[in-house]
Amino acid sequence: MTLTVGVIGGGQLARMMIPAATHLGIDLRVFAENDGSPSAIAATQVGDYVDADQVLRFTREAAVDVITFDHEHVPQAVLSALVEAGVAVRPGPNALLYAQDKLLMRARLSELGLPVPEWAAVSTEAELDAFIEAHGGVAIVKTPRGGYDGKGVRVVRRGREANDWFEAPGIGALLAEELVEFRRELAQSVARRPSGDIVAWPVVESVQQNGVCAEVIAPAPNSAGRIADVAEQIAVTVAEGLDVTGVLAVELFETTDDRLLINELAMRPHNTGHWSIEGSTTSQFEQHLRAVLDLPLGATGTRDAWTVMVNVLGGPVGGGLDSRYAKAMAEHPTVKFHSYGKDSRPGRKVGHVSVGGSDLDDAMYQARAAAEILTE
Ligand code: ADP
Repeated sequence: MTLTVGVIGGGQLARMMIPAATHLGIDLRVFAENDGSPSAIAATQVGDYVDADQVLRFTREAAVDVITFDHEHVPQAVLSALVEAGVAVRPGPNALLYAQDKLLMRARLSELGLPVPEWAAVSTEAELDAFIEAHGGVAIVKTPRGGYDGKGVRVVRRGREANDWFEAPGIGALLAEELVEFRRELAQSVARRPSGDIVAWPVVESVQQNGVCAEVIAPAPNSAGRIADVAEQIAVTVAEGLDVTGVLAVELFETTDDRLLINELAMRPHNTGHWSIEGSTTSQFEQHLRAVLDLPLGATGTRDAWTVMVNVLGGPVGGGLDSRYAKAMAEHPTVKFHSYGKDSRPGRKVGHVSVGGSDLDDAMYQARAAAEILTE
C-alpha cells in the first residue's frame, strides 16, 4: 500500500520533504502557488490555497491520505471545508489557529500557564501609549496575522508609531509586548502523532539578523540540564495543550535573568530544525511525514557533537547552483549544501549549509565561510 501525503504550499519546506518521502516510499503531492516553486521537482499541482474548491479538488485528484502544510496561511474556512469533506488535516484547524494569529496564541499560552512575554491586545494609539508607559517607555508591537521573518514586528516608544497599522483595513487589534531583555534565542522542536506519542530534538540556539534566522547551533551551547529540560517541557506542553500533530517548533527567549519565554510557534518543519537533516538520526522532514501519517516516530539524537546551520540569503545575483557553489564545495568539503531552487532577491532565503563535527569553532567557521561564498 502506498501512502500519499498532500502538502499545501510549494516552498522549501515542501521541497525538503521530498527526499524523506522518497526514502520512505511515500507518495508526496504538492499544491503549490505557482509553477516555478521550490517543490516543482515533485508531483505538483498549481492552485490557490484560499479557494476551498481548488484545494478540495487537489485532495481528491491526488487521493491523499493526509493533508499537511508548508506554511500556516491556509484560511480556517478552507481547513474546515477539508475536515467536513472527511480529509485528515494535520495539524488540524484548531491547532493551526494558534500559529495563524499571535493574539490568540498569546491568550491560549497564558491560559495554559506557559511563560510568555507580558502582552496585551491594543486597538488604539492611547491603549498602546498606556502599555508603553507601563513597560519602561518601550514596547514591541506585532500585527497578529501574516507576519514572517520580522515583517509585522516593530519596536515603538510612542503609540503613534503604530498608527499606520491601526488605520490599515483588516488588521484589527495589535499585539503589544514588553521588550524582552534576552541573552539569546533558542528553539525547541518536537513531533507528535495523532495517537499522542511525542519526541523532542535537543534545544538549539538560533541567531537572528534583522528579524531573520541567520544561523542555528545544535544543540544550543551550555544548554545541558535545566535549560534543555525546561525547553522540552514547554514544547511538550504546547503540543499537547494545543493538540498539535506533526512537527512543532517553539521559538524561545532565554532572558538575562535565566527564564525561558515563548516567542513564536510554527506547526511544521522550521528553519531552526534544518540542522536535523544531517545532524539528527531522524530529520524534521522525515519525522513530520511519519507524525502526520501516525507512523512510529524516529530517534532524535544527534549524529555529531555539534551541527551548525547557516542560511544562504540571496544577493543581487542568481540563486541556483552556479559557479559559487563549485568554489564553496572545493574549499569546504565537509559542508553539506542545500539550494532551494529559488530566484535570488536580497535577503531572501535561497538555501542553507550545514556542517557537523566535534569542534564547534571549526564547524562554525566552515559553515559561515561556505555560506559567505554563496552570498558573494
Ligand atoms: P516573525 O513572526 O515575523 O518571525 P517574531 O515575533 O518571531 O516575528 O519576531 C521577530 C524577531 O523580533 C524575534 O526573533 C526577536 O529577535 C524580536 N522580538 C520579537 N518579539 C520580541 C520581544 N517581545 N522582545 C524582544 N525582541 C523581540
